[in-house]
Amino acid sequence: MPDMRVIRIATTCRACSRGFSSRLFSRLLPTCLIILGLALSAQGSRPAHATTAAEATDPIAQAASKIESQLILWRRDIHQHPELGFQEHRTAALVANHLRNLQFDEVLTGIGETGVVGILHGKLPGPVVALRADMDALPVLEQTGLEFASTATANWQGQQVPVMHACGHDAHVAILMGAASVLSQRRDTLAGTVMFIFQPAEEGSDHGGGAEAMLADGLFDQHKPGAIFALHVVPAERGSLHYRSGPTAASADTFRVDMQGQGTHGAMPWGGSDSLSAAAQAVLGIQSIISRRIDITRAPAIISVGSFHAGNRHNIVPSNATLTGTIRTFDAEVRSRIHQLIEDVASGAASSYGVTATTTIERGYPVLVNDPSLGQKMLPTLQRLAGAQLHEADRMTGAEDFAFYAQQVPGMYIGLGAMPPGKLLFNHAPDFTIDESSLKVGVVVLSQLALDFLALPGQ
Ligand SMILES: [Zn+2]
Ligand SMILES: [Zn+2]
Repeated sequence: MPDMRVIRIATTCRACSRGFSSRLFSRLLPTCLIILGLALSAQGSRPAHATTAAEATDPIAQAASKIESQLILWRRDIHQHPELGFQEHRTAALVANHLRNLQFDEVLTGIGETGVVGILHGKLPGPVVALRADMDALPVLEQTGLEFASTATANWQGQQVPVMHACGHDAHVAILMGAASVLSQRRDTLAGTVMFIFQPAEEGSDHGGGAEAMLADGLFDQHKPGAIFALHVVPAERGSLHYRSGPTAASADTFRVDMQGQGTHGAMPWGGSDSLSAAAQAVLGIQSIISRRIDITRAPAIISVGSFHAGNRHNIVPSNATLTGTIRTFDAEVRSRIHQLIEDVASGAASSYGVTATTTIERGYPVLVNDPSLGQKMLPTLQRLAGAQLHEADRMTGAEDFAFYAQQVPGMYIGLGAMPPGKLLFNHAPDFTIDESSLKVGVVVLSQLALDFLALPGQ
């Protein structure tokens, strides 16, 4: 399980301007996804995913079609029984039983708390390839009206909350279970090993995300894959695929600035030092960093202040003010530069009002980089499978902890269009749902990517 990590806590004291470090505040809940840009890229294409001539003759597509009703049953069952991050006990048991029934060579449970890993060795020698699905749901009250809608609740941050698969991870689990079925049937001709990773807590938790937890438990120690693939359902034309090479999802860091001044009467502000005004100036300065201090031709970035707390009465200058926010970047150097600038701006604002600023930055998920070389090799597979429904994805300003795997091995993360016809639904919304005909497409995509990777020369 990953430790909470501190990047930088810099305090500038009005007396000595000295910096020091200490432990950080609570970990942010990173938002996976929100591949909203993808929805835009898919407008105006073919109206629906229909069975093509290629599908009718392709053995993988045929195998996926054969298990479609089972995919839908799995997805509905998981949807009706959603579990929050690191609480995916029922889902993990369902997955592990399925892999054991398929007579996988290894089925490991409890990896990264509730994660499951299945190892499928082909009869022929070859490289290792990994496929990943995330299993966790969100604290959202479902409002889909589906007959298999969730009524589940769970404890989250000390509160009882409703739970819903509002990000489509129910579909991801069903798809990867389906790929396990399809690929296990081809074991005799499989040249290499397929690692199936069912990870917990992609949406994060109070102690980090599931990818880090699985890696910390030695996920890649025994079998280091030559590539890892994952897909995420997105609000785009069902059956469409969305991919971009290079930086794809943003890093997501949290910052907090605490201004410590001296409270006084609002009618006599000169009697103290005004933390509120310093914090207000810091908000404007921090949100101007991107437009004034960052070379945005290198990579885009975002800083948003999300909370500001100070004072409790109209005629008291408050002693303390606190603001928090999020930082999204697509480049490691830009990320570091922004961290430094937030600290500098907060310190400058503080000193101009004679107060003390303490800046705390917590690193969340890193930039998700789709390996360009792997992408080049696998693009023909995506083109063959999706044809005109293959789109270049926009960057996602949401974060995705697949980034941690992609830091260790070449990774490829793809959006799978799963929007019901005539609807525009967004992940994390209470009415989010998917078109279930996209499930078998997902099975074909993951299965075929694995097979084609294993068949690449020189692996
Ligand atoms: Zn999500
Ligand atoms: Zn998600």
